[in-house]
Amino acid sequence: EGVTEPILAVEEVTKTFGELLAVDNCSFEIEDGSITGLIGPNGAGKSTMFNVISGFYQPDSGTVRFNDEDITGLPPNEIAHKGLVRTFQITRDLTEMTVMENMMLTPKNQTGESMFRAVFDRGTIDRENDAIAERADELLELFQLDHLRDEFSGNLSGGQRKLLEMARMLMLEPDVMLLDEPMAGVNPTLENDIVERIEALNREEDVTFMIVEHDMGLVMDLCDRIVVMNEGTDLAAGPPSTIQNDERVLEAYLGG
Ligand code: ADP
Ligand code: MG
Repeated sequence: EGVTEPILAVEEVTKTFGELLAVDNCSFEIEDGSITGLIGPNGAGKSTMFNVISGFYQPDSGTVRFNDEDITGLPPNEIAHKGLVRTFQITRDLTEMTVMENMMLTPKNQTGESMFRAVFDRGTIDRENDAIAERADELLELFQLDHLRDEFSGNLSGGQRKLLEMARMLMLEPDVMLLDEPMAGVNPTLENDIVERIEALNREEDVTFMIVEHDMGLVMDLCDRIVVMNEGTDLAAGPPSTIQNDERVLEAYLGG
């Protein structure tokens, strides 16, 4: 049992798509201030779990608690404004807008539908707000995107768009960030950058992370704790050293 309270607790969550059990009675906790890896074979339910936690999907049953508050079923923008944000496996930045415009959208018009609606009303971009612009500039600098400030985000590389998505979400000053395969399609140099940004944000801004990542070496190195999902449920959880030697985990990866 951990000494500190979990910042996020997933309790017996189930999510079906018709006949398919994507998440099956899954439970785990994330400690405040930690970097937790969420691993498991393809189709294990990791992305679905992120969608349930962040409010993009309603679970069939179960509870998600954030900072001791039941947030189950709240809309994504409400959850984001409480301090829990996520990035997508496939980036969802607005390619017709510049990098800076993407950044300035986020504080008012969070994720998902509301964000896309905002495209049709550019007046909602708060260019006048100096504090917001200043944070945007700081984040762009941190992610080494400042030289691309006025570039359309559609012209960025895959890796740069991953960084932009993280930077954009950080406009909300979140307590918890869920990252779904942040390194996918990213070149090794940029991958190192992303790892360093994650570690710096964790250390200096107290951001708690949960990260879905396939590179086991990277996960074991970066994370304090690992949660393993298999066939929709939590198979194991613990420090990297324990998880690496867990027979059930090896079996799940080898196909049982
Ligand atoms: P992972 O991210 O671990 O690879 P997913 O959460 O994406 O796994 O998928 C878990 C299971 O749920 C898979 O069988 C997948 O095909 C299914 N699934 C995911 N999203 C949907 C959806 N929107 N509709 C129907 N089935 C889905
Ligand atoms: Mg996935």
